[in-house]
Amino acid sequence: MHRIGLTGGIGSGKTTVAGLLAEHGAVIIDADAIARDVVEPGMPALSLLALEFGDDIVRSDGSLDRGALAARAFRDTDGTQRLNAIMHPLIREESQRRLAEAPDTCIVVYDMPLLFETGQQDLVDEVVVVDVPEDLQVERAVGLRGLEEVDVRRRMQAQWSRSERLSGADHVIDNSGDLEATKRQVDELWTILSGDPG
Ligand code: ATP
Repeated sequence: MHRIGLTGGIGSGKTTVAGLLAEHGAVIIDADAIARDVVEPGMPALSLLALEFGDDIVRSDGSLDRGALAARAFRDTDGTQRLNAIMHPLIREESQRRLAEAPDTCIVVYDMPLLFETGQQDLVDEVVVVDVPEDLQVERAVGLRGLEEVDVRRRMQAQWSRSERLSGADHVIDNSGDLEATKRQVDELWTILSGDPG
């Protein structure tokens, strides 16, 4: 099995590149989906979060009240750190389990926005960084994904800088051009990855 970590800043094009890799036959493990799955009703994360942030972040039907949690956790950096201290190990553990479960013969792509920030590059054999200039990140995240510019910039502040990310990359996809240009690079990358013994 060949394990590839796919990362990049907000709005860089991770989802787009993951989709192109999936067309080639890669198995995608989506860290954002795992982050949602681990707070499903009945999962241990919920009781840990309730202990830390108060019982009323869990609704009477057992589901997470995301608004209530965000109001407590994102009030200050301490709250954010306490939330991360609960969530990151759980996401890592579940990601590791899913990576181990993937068929031996496949190329598995772990799509993780905070791969470096959470030190998870050691879960994978190689890292692919999707790269665009910061202004284009903002333009796409605001114009195409409909996010607020102030939120995008705040999230960029909390993520590694472009140069830090690039220095950790084994492969870089330059997604600043059109989709055709990105597709060509992904095709080339796939040839390289398929040829690697893993
Ligand atoms: P997020 O971090 O917000 O989840 P992401 O890194 O997964 O974002 P995408 O959702 O793939 O990024 O791309 C952001 C937006 O930019 C999407 O609307 C996508 O369709 C568009 N986009 C991605 N790549 C290109 C490109 N090469 N040219 C034009 N638009 C693009």
